[in-house]
Amino acid sequence: MAGVIVIFDFDKTIIDCDSDNWVVDGLGATALFEELLPTMPWNSLMDRMMSELHSQGKTIEDIVDCLRTAPLHPQVISAIKTAHALGCELRIVSDANYFFIETILKHHGLFDYFSEINTNPGFVDEEGKLRIQPYHDLFNSASHGCTNPCPQTCASVSNGIHNSYTQALCINYQVSLGSVELGTYGRQIHGSSQLKGLIIKRIQDAMLSEGKKRIIYLGDGKGDYCPSLKLGEGDFMMPRKNYPVWELITSNPLLLKTEIHGWSDAEELEKVLLKLINILLSADKKTPELLSMDWKFQPVSRLPHEAFPQVLRVPN
Ligand SMILES: [Mg+2]
Repeated sequence: MAGVIVIFDFDKTIIDCDSDNWVVDGLGATALFEELLPTMPWNSLMDRMMSELHSQGKTIEDIVDCLRTAPLHPQVISAIKTAHALGCELRIVSDANYFFIETILKHHGLFDYFSEINTNPGFVDEEGKLRIQPYHDLFNSASHGCTNPCPQTCASVSNGIHNSYTQALCINYQVSLGSVELGTYGRQIHGSSQLKGLIIKRIQDAMLSEGKKRIIYLGDGKGDYCPSLKLGEGDFMMPRKNYPVWELITSNPLLLKTEIHGWSDAEELEKVLLKLINILLSADKKTPELLSMDWKFQPVSRLPHEAFPQVLRVPN
């Protein structure tokens, strides 16, 4: 196994849409969603929407069928498979939910390529209703120790994570915060940046004992900004061009310690990702590049100085 961990955001990175919006729109609940959005935290609203859809007779199978139509480009699939074949460890850090991600990845035969999925818990209850646990929202209402210079847009953000580690973290924050006051925010305004940053920090700490050396991070949203600040020299940040994380990074790239390599679409994602993996593997082995391809990419900057958790271990 190579000492490279590739961390993917999910929505608008692996799939070319937002999975929450895809299901809400696909099952005809857009109007109610938009009506309630100003009144509820995002993940609480998604849990509410799943309840509403269930009461309207929509089944889990309807949701699964909808998820299977979410756009996932073949070149993203090939990029994932090639990265895995080259020995990289692949993980996901997302503010979607586990049910959506698992369903989509399994549909495309990609689920087993990922060793870890960090996201909000999502499960089917005894009534056959999809439940989405709003850890993200509870975590959302206060600063929680991130010392990065995140903009206000990510200053009160979090993600729900899917393992005992994340759940424990959220519970700890609930305890420390006492009565958590939930605000009226949507995910577009308050992303998952800080919690994602904490996930990255946890991964980095574990890397020390696991012998991993470098991280490549791919994302598009504001929630991916704090992780970019956690990355270190020798890592690579791959923001999607002209998406929120790109705007944040390019507004002051000197805040990042890592190289920045943008991508616009699936084709460019694959080219840039495999090129960067090639660079890291070549440097690791101190041998000529393992792959010979005519790469075309330009980093936004190359700076001499310099980027937390459902963590569910995917059974192999
Ligand atoms: Mg995203």
